[in-house]
Amino acid sequence: MGPIDANVLVLNSDYRPLNVCNVRRAVVLLEKEKAHTVELDGVMIRSERRALRAPSVIRLSYHVKRPRPVVKLTRREILARDDHQCQYCGKHGNDLTIDHVTPRHRGGQHTWENVVTACKSCNHRKGGRTVPEAHMTLLRQPFRPPATPRYLFSSYIRSGERTWLKFLGVDETAAAS
Ligand SMILES: [Zn+2]
Repeated sequence: MGPIDANVLVLNSDYRPLNVCNVRRAVVLLEKEKAHTVELDGVMIRSERRALRAPSVIRLSYHVKRPRPVVKLTRREILARDDHQCQYCGKHGNDLTIDHVTPRHRGGQHTWENVVTACKSCNHRKGGRTVPEAHMTLLRQPFRPPATPRYLFSSYIRSGERTWLKFLGVDETAAAS
């Protein structure tokens, strides 16, 4: 991955984080004056017209209206919420499945509060039973993740996009620990 493919945080005109694009796309927006640089990366890149320092955060010059973000209830998001960890035995791994805490056939809903990440063996052991029936315990109660920038962009925060932190509502000293 070259510097042109690096991630750039895109802010709305009101400085709220919108999404992430790559440097290539960011440079196009900058050259069309559809966005302005807010934070720079140290890397020099060459666009069609000139050499410039790669942006790491840009802000759109116009306002984008969009509905309040929500975290979609997908397998990927459930695994991310649970830190890719079986919520019964604590195992991390790549044989993870999704378990309904109260089984579907017992009236359990497919909701954030009733789904957890479970390894194959815990899922098998629990079978069609409830948690107390199976004599198992949950590491923590499942919850609906907050659709805050801090949560939505957490994978980027972990990968160390330092210049983004203040725009994501993250205290830099807290992120360093
Ligand atoms: Zn397990």
